Amino acid sequence: MTGPIIALDKVRREFTAGDTKVVALDDLSLSIAPGEMVAIIGSSGSGKSTLLNILGCLDRPSSGSYRVAGKNVAELDADALAALRREHFGFIFQRYHLLGDLSAAANVEIPAVYAGIGARERRLRAEALLTRLGVGDRGGHRPNQLSGGQQQRVSIARALINGAEVFLADEPTGALDRRSGEEVLKILEELHLEGRTIIIVTHDDDVAARAGRIIELRDGRIVSDRRAETATVSEPPPVTSRTTQHGDAGWASALGRLREASRMALVAMAAHRLRAFLTMLGIIIGIAAVSSVVALGNASQRKVLSDISSLGTNTIEVFPGKDFGDARAGKIKTLVLGDARALERQAFIAGVTPTVSTSTTVRYRGNESNVLVNGVGESYFLVKGAKLAKGRLFGSEAVHNIERQVVIDENTRKTFFADDQTAGIGRIIWLGKVPCRIVGVIAQQQGGFGSNQNLSVYLPYTTVQAQFTGDSSLRSVLLRISDDVSTSLAQDAVTTLLTQRHSTRDFVILNTDDIRRTITSTTQTLAFLVAAIAVISLIVGGIGVMNIMLVSVSERISEIGVRMAVGARRSDILQQFLVEATLISSIGGIAGILIAVLLGTAINIAIPGFGVSYSPFSIGAAFLTSTGIGIGFGFFPARRAAFLDPVVALSRD
Ligand code: ADP
Ligand code: MG
Repeated sequence: MTGPIIALDKVRREFTAGDTKVVALDDLSLSIAPGEMVAIIGSSGSGKSTLLNILGCLDRPSSGSYRVAGKNVAELDADALAALRREHFGFIFQRYHLLGDLSAAANVEIPAVYAGIGARERRLRAEALLTRLGVGDRGGHRPNQLSGGQQQRVSIARALINGAEVFLADEPTGALDRRSGEEVLKILEELHLEGRTIIIVTHDDDVAARAGRIIELRDGRIVSDRRAETATVSEPPPVTSRTTQHGDAGWASALGRLREASRMALVAMAAHRLRAFLTMLGIIIGIAAVSSVVALGNASQRKVLSDISSLGTNTIEVFPGKDFGDARAGKIKTLVLGDARALERQAFIAGVTPTVSTSTTVRYRGNESNVLVNGVGESYFLVKGAKLAKGRLFGSEAVHNIERQVVIDENTRKTFFADDQTAGIGRIIWLGKVPCRIVGVIAQQQGGFGSNQNLSVYLPYTTVQAQFTGDSSLRSVLLRISDDVSTSLAQDAVTTLLTQRHSTRDFVILNTDDIRRTITSTTQTLAFLVAAIAVISLIVGGIGVMNIMLVSVSERISEIGVRMAVGARRSDILQQFLVEATLISSIGGIAGILIAVLLGTAINIAIPGFGVSYSPFSIGAAFLTSTGIGIGFGFFPARRAAFLDPVVALSRD
């Protein structure tokens, strides 16, 4: 090896603190040959640390040039500088700068992780180095379980793991007692004898005396550069043993680093469990709320629609009145039996049943209650999809003969015949002053037919007109449309026909398709509102994640500095924090989904037949949303960490 490994030419480093400018290094020139052991001494503030930071590519000169093994550092980008720190330099700090959440062995492995070396190889190297440095039995210990001397050995092992050529030690014995300091110096001397370049910053003359060359700084300038007579320049080790072993290229390396980032994120979360949980809580609540509200909405819409379809498709009902809710509808007497007869003759009509209604009291053996009396045609039950629970329905001859046969509903049966084996079939009840014989009971239907608390009974409409209302006007005409005719065409035809007959449009037509459409569009509006609220709540959750990640970054600035010093790229730091944010929010998302599913199951048990269900699609969407929140809101804090200045980060304690 011929040229110097380190060559500074008129390097200047200025700091601006407020209005004043501090010159930390003043046009300093220096060259160091491979295999030298150099001590840099000088009083406090003379620029030693600044020099070391520039040598280690943690900092850049304000002016002047710095060449490492002939390469001009000014021409290298951030990643190339990180690579230099990773492969060529080994840092040893006064306060060791080990990461407290990791074991000694894991600390040693960090530079190898960033170099992309496989896990097995890393572990073997770390074990070997720790053993060699006399702390082989402490690999599993946390830094705070080790003495200062042991911690410093661990940090030397970390500096060695990628086979560094140049060791940069800033007061490596400054925090140690004499004996431990002596041991650390011995190790550094050994490394020197192996041919490595050692640069030690110290203000201890005894320490400096161990080096072959002593450079003294004052006010950023070299005031003396002495070589001891005994100075040795060790022969650099043969290239084979010195060559750093690069890890697997590309894919495998990137994947390995991602795995390490995930592990680190888990470690960080485990170290702040409560905080991680509280951060997740926003996401958990957001995702759980969104998932359950969407599922509930879907279930209730499905239920309402199925109730409607139990009313029968292809039916339309004509009511008197200019509009729905027309207050005078009851007084409009223009919808008459003649209309029903006329409609019955149309080819597209499969069935017609006029309806009339009134209310009266019903009496049976001294019991009395209010009842809605429905006068209907014999096909009414079929059109409405009503099911017979007991007895029979009345037929066309009963309608024709104005018979006093009555079909009661389930409420009426319960009110009067709760304990009666016959369910009232064959008994005579009094509707107002009219005695009628019960012929059948119709079953209660979910949602649709007779689901409320009122009592309803059904008689032939002819009987109701003759015995109760006394006129021929109708409450409505219920039409069943032939299956091969579209409801809307039929509705148009009915409208035309009735408008001709009445010579005015004094009726309204209700069809189940319209109701279905109205309900669908209402639930869609609701779903949209819910989605809007959901988005807001998730944004709030995301801001929570961002907030905590910013706290986490500023808490771990010195960790970030250490990682950068041992060779982490910006992308490595970015990845680590991004993975942490993403993990927090996707774990929160999974918890939220689980809560929603449990809630849905509870509702299904409590309300049978409601049918809350979660499709794999919606579960997947919820999970992706939570992951996306982590990535989206974690990016800004992670980027902030990645673009920290390594020197500034390192000096934070
Ligand atoms: P030493 O390590 O020899 O004690 P330093 O290299 O730390 O000295 O500092 C040299 C000079 O540069 C000091 O006057 C110090 O105040 C100044 N200095 C170092 N770092 C900064 C900084 N980040 N901002 C402003 N001034 C700095
Ligand atoms: Mg210093």
